[in-house]
Formats: sequence, C-alpha cells, structure tokens
Amino acid sequence: MNLVIENLSKRYPNGVQALRDVTLTVGPGMFGLLGPNGAGKSTLMRTLATLQDPDTGSVRLGDIDLLRDKPAVRQLLGYLPQEFGVYPKVKAIDLLDHLGRLKGLADRALRKETVEALLRRTNLWEARNRALGTFSGGMKQRFGIAQALIGDPRLLIVDEPTAGLDPEERVRFHDLLSEISESVIVLLSTHIVSDVSDLCSRMAIMHQGELRLVQQPSEAIAGLRGRLWERTVEKAEVAQLGESLSLISTRLVAGRTRVRVLAESAPAPGFVTAEPELEDVYFAVRRGADIRSRAA
Ligand code: ADP
Repeated sequence: MNLVIENLSKRYPNGVQALRDVTLTVGPGMFGLLGPNGAGKSTLMRTLATLQDPDTGSVRLGDIDLLRDKPAVRQLLGYLPQEFGVYPKVKAIDLLDHLGRLKGLADRALRKETVEALLRRTNLWEARNRALGTFSGGMKQRFGIAQALIGDPRLLIVDEPTAGLDPEERVRFHDLLSEISESVIVLLSTHIVSDVSDLCSRMAIMHQGELRLVQQPSEAIAGLRGRLWERTVEKAEVAQLGESLSLISTRLVAGRTRVRVLAESAPAPGFVTAEPELEDVYFAVRRGADIRSRAA
C-alpha cells in the first residue's frame, strides 16, 4: 500500500502559506520529514491524519481517497500528535483500554489482550498501573506510540516525537520505532537531523511549505562528497567569508569556529575537503543550494 500525495496546498486565514504544491509518494517503511519549526510539517501531518483539509490537492492511501473517505482512513491510521495530552490522574492501562474502545475494539477479552501486548511492546508493562501524570517525557511518548498502534494501523504518523527527550530516552524511542513492522508506512516528522539519519531509509526536506528534496539520506550525502570544504577560522573572519562563499554551517569545535562551504573546487586557501553528513545536506538545502546537481 502506498500513500500518494498530489499538489497539496494550504493557506491559513491569517495569510500563512503552510503547504505549497506538495507532491510525494511514500511506501512502507520509515519515511522522515525533516524541516525547521514553521516549515509546515504539522500541517501536512494533520492533513494526512484527516484532521484538517487542504485548499487544493489530493491524497490516496491505497485505493482510498483520504480527503473524502475519512472514516475508512481512520480504520487504518495511527497518529501521535505533536502535543499529546494525557489525563494525568488516569492509569496507563485504563486510558489505553478506553482508547481501544473508542477505536472500535468492542470485544473485551480481545481488547485486554491488545492493551497488554502494547504495554509490553512499548516497555511500559511495569508502569501500567501508574497515573500518566507521573510518567517521564520518554514514557509519555512511548505511551503515545502504544495508543497509536491500537488497531494495527497501516499508516502511522508520528509528529516531532523526540523533541524534549533526553539522549537515553531518544535511543529507546528510536529502538521502538525501528521495531515497527516493515509493512507499515511510518511518517516521522522532525526538526532533529539524527532522528532521520538513525531511522529513515527515505526522507524529504521541507522548508517554507515546500518539499525541497526527496531522496535517500545516503544518496543525498553522496551528492555532497568532494564538494564540501571546511576550515577552522577566527570568529571575526566568519562574516567576511560569508560574503564571498556559500557557507553551509558554522560550528564551534573546541572553542574555535569551523566553517563548511559548498564549492566545486577549493574555495580559498586553507580549506580542505570534509566528509559530508546528513546535517550538511539539511543546511545546504535550507540555504537554497541545489545539492542534486552532481549527485551520483
Ligand atoms: P511545523 O510543524 O513544521 O513547525 P506548522 O505546520 O506547525 O509547521 O506551521 C507552518 C506555518 O503555518 C507556520 O508559519 C505556523 O505559524 C502557521 N500555522 C500553523 N497552524 C496555523 C493555524 N491554525 N492558523 C494560522 N497559522 C498556522
């Protein structure tokens, strides 16, 4: 089953153009949607989760018209929103049972079995009788995945799941996502580059409502090889370099400033070629560089 998005556009009443002609086909597996805050990721995720309508465009999930036949889509959909509110006084197991009932799991024994399996799968079994208000950020997000997996969805939408998690919780959350079956389309929206480099075999970079790049992360990185140059400079030199060169990033390394530049040959004395990472791809695309011009 594929998710086929065509020419989706959305302008909010305040004039913000949140989606500009978004066209994308996503098959099973983990797909990363990477972009800075305000890029339009949540707007796209909410549209695909059938919670809001675009102005124009179409979306199909398999044979289903996603924008018209919302009840049919919701049967196949799991969604972890960016702001996942929980009832702080309710026990994890009770809320999951309740959400299971809302999702149409009417049979009590089957629901109990499903809920218990999900609590084990998300590593929350020991905490099942704790009130959700006592959960850490990471536990809440794992609970969010448990509720999204009720009903065995074919499309799982996860919006900014690791923002605010500490490194250990992020690793646990990544492990959980990577265990989700290969037959599920998982759309992961994030502004954190390592979420995508750790998990996703395909990705899109979104900026100002547009998809600027749709590619495998490894291919995108390969496209920068031999064209990325770096040099360590004094902080005062950065502005001057930025005037003449296409700076991709400036980063402090051990108290000195390391600049990375995109250029077809050595841009200035002292620059050496650098091994590109996904972060360089992300910064280059955000700065409007056409990084695919020489991609293998
Ligand atoms: P992201 O998830 O990438 O941070 P969003 O989809 O939340 O991006 O937002 C895209 C743009 O649309 C932003 O400029 C945001 O301020 C604006 N926006 C989002 N939701 C609304 C809304 N309900 N009304 C008006 N503007 C909105």
